Amino acid sequence: MRLVILGPPGAGKGTQAASIVEEFDVKHISTGDIFRENIKNETELGTKAKSYMDQGLLVPDELVNEIVVDRIAKDDVKNGFLLDGFPRTVNQAVALDAALENMETKLDRVINIIVDSELLIERACGRRVCPECGATYHISNNPPASPGICDEDGATLIQREDDVEETVKTRIQVYEDQTSPLVDYYKAQGLLLDIDGGKEIAAVWEDIKAGLKQGANE
Ligand code: ADP
Ligand code: AMP
Ligand code: ZN
Repeated sequence: MRLVILGPPGAGKGTQAASIVEEFDVKHISTGDIFRENIKNETELGTKAKSYMDQGLLVPDELVNEIVVDRIAKDDVKNGFLLDGFPRTVNQAVALDAALENMETKLDRVINIIVDSELLIERACGRRVCPECGATYHISNNPPASPGICDEDGATLIQREDDVEETVKTRIQVYEDQTSPLVDYYKAQGLLLDIDGGKEIAAVWEDIKAGLKQGANE
């Protein structure tokens, strides 16, 4: 299955991605994770991306599109992928469609997670992530067994630099301005699976699972 998960920052895309990739045996491709890995490794791409990310702005399309087009052509995504955080502009969506067409394939579904802005701020600001394995927690909604420590590997959890209120507000605005037009873009292609992301994590997952399985039988 070739999937996109769409939704504003803090909607729960990464959280649900972990369940989706396990259930449907597809590769998780998160452009945010790719950039954060490049920042950690101090690559040229990381240096370029960091200045935009710190401000809550989008990294320019030309830096993002090539990375994704190369990534989805790799052998390990033959069984499918879940794009998380890409596309974020109509330009990126058009580039993705063109790349898939070249590969004589197409997207199967676009999962659209819908959440109120108030909840988004609370979710993003309370998010804690594991620098070792990438696991995502929330200080109150989805806490680890011992506070501040990753359940998987015992690493000390960190807060993303862009998960502070002012930057989160900018990111939500950027989503509304530049990314939300993709909802209509994919609706027009008949790909959209709308999901109420205001429910608790397990309930959102049940809705996604049911929606994707139904899609597969259509
Ligand atoms: P995104 O990838 O869309 O930015 P995340 O999956 O990282 O969002 O989730 C943002 C924060 O909200 C995390 O701290 C996560 O644990 C928490 N979260 C995710 N889904 C839910 C939910 N359905 N209810 C409550 N908290 C959630
Ligand atoms: P995320 O991890 O998806 O929340 O992304 C974190 C940040 O990385 C965003 O705020 C952007 O600055 C940058 N980023 C990630 N994906 C993209 C993309 N597809 N296009 C532009 N910028 C991106
Ligand atoms: Zn971990």
